[in-house]
Amino acid sequence: MTVRVRIAPSPTGNLHIGTARTAVFNWLYARCHGGKFILRIEDTDQTRSRPEYTEDIKAGLTWLGLDWDEQLRFQSQRLHLYRETTQTLLDKGLAYRCYCTEEELNQMREAQKARGEAPRYDNRHRNLTPEQQAAFEAEGRRPVIRFKIEDNRDIIWHDQVRGKLFWKGSDLGGDMVIARTSPEGDIGQPLYNLAVVVDDMDMQITHVIRGEDHIANTAKQILLYEALGSSLPKFAHTPLILNMQGQKLSKRENVTAISDFQEMGFVPEAMANYMMLLGWTPPDSTEEIFTLSQAAEKFSLDRVSKAGARFDWAKLDWLNSQYIHQMPANRLVELLIPYWQAAGYDLDVDRAWLEEVAALIASSLTRLSDAVEQAKSFLVKSVEISEEGISQLQQPGSTEALEAIVDALETQPRLSEADAQQLVKQVTKEKNVKKGLVMRSLRAALTGELRGHDLMQSWLLLNQHGWDKPRLQQALRLVSSGG
Ligand code: GLU
Repeated sequence: MTVRVRIAPSPTGNLHIGTARTAVFNWLYARCHGGKFILRIEDTDQTRSRPEYTEDIKAGLTWLGLDWDEQLRFQSQRLHLYRETTQTLLDKGLAYRCYCTEEELNQMREAQKARGEAPRYDNRHRNLTPEQQAAFEAEGRRPVIRFKIEDNRDIIWHDQVRGKLFWKGSDLGGDMVIARTSPEGDIGQPLYNLAVVVDDMDMQITHVIRGEDHIANTAKQILLYEALGSSLPKFAHTPLILNMQGQKLSKRENVTAISDFQEMGFVPEAMANYMMLLGWTPPDSTEEIFTLSQAAEKFSLDRVSKAGARFDWAKLDWLNSQYIHQMPANRLVELLIPYWQAAGYDLDVDRAWLEEVAALIASSLTRLSDAVEQAKSFLVKSVEISEEGISQLQQPGSTEALEAIVDALETQPRLSEADAQQLVKQVTKEKNVKKGLVMRSLRAALTGELRGHDLMQSWLLLNQHGWDKPRLQQALRLVSSGG
């Protein structure tokens, strides 16, 4: 048996972290078993579906490194299949037309509530006579198609994550709507539970791996598989993603779209790695850093947890920094350029030089967006000197040392690392000051701050662009004018 799994997002919003995590698990499962991973767009709800969301979903999956097999499927192109299946169920007497109006359904629910019962459809149109049906039709009522769900049915399945699951037919809300009808009375738009079963059967899906919010749907879908004479796929329900307070991660209060994480400066490898760990524990739980293909060798559903997975920003940040710190400078620079551009920095500079800047600041980055601040002194011509920086420049001996460096730069504007080291040594000796003072003053004048990246490397990068001398001069002017 070839493993075939799928994700079936609705294009009614940007790619959500929950869907992306489900995609990661499905992808890992497929790749682990040499199977197929299918992407199916559930766009039957034409009022809420938008092509730009389909594009966002595809772009987000691709960004994360998740590729899919076979052609992309769109439910909207498969409506004839859902119609045929609905007709089959009607023909077998397993489905029927229900003519209840919205108002009648509301009244039904109100009455149930008043009696302290859970709201459900009471199956009142299950056995209409042809005359009753004709009368409703004559009134111009537009029916829906309902699938019969017997109250006395027990639905039991073995979930690959949660073990044995049990659902009573009487807890499924009564006969369920599987399709709407058109104004002409034809079978029209299918509803999720029908469409998903038709598709999973047609695409020979072997394992349905999806969020645990679909467990009740699974019970309904199992009844549809049976009614259609099909064997069942295996089901695996993954835990919900919770915030650190243990509540469901909601769209409103949190960032939940993959594109938001991307914008915030997370790298795709870290995001994919973090999502693997949202609910799955690797066999050696001390190992946490994996690429997708490394994880695919180890992935199994029995190591997916039943408990909700808490979204831990600190952990994600840590993973992100690990990936950034190990990244080759040419790739890092590629990822940083958009942030620098957005900050308005002038990037009309030599590429190799930019890579050196990236390599220098890499170890200070947690998110790519941190590079705006961290690279500022290299990419913006003049720096503002902090108060601390000014008091450093006012230290006895500081001005003399910096003036001597400026003089040296007049005669030798470009420095090698050895030249720079030699120059500091020479100034220390000539002006009879401590090396630490020279270094701190240099840093204050060149970067405006007392702390930062490796000073010699920073100086050399600025020196290559001839930005060191003007900064030293500017600092000297500032101190002589009284700060
Ligand atoms: N459109 C559904 C969702 O995104 C699909 C659920 C399923 O995998 O069956 O939640």
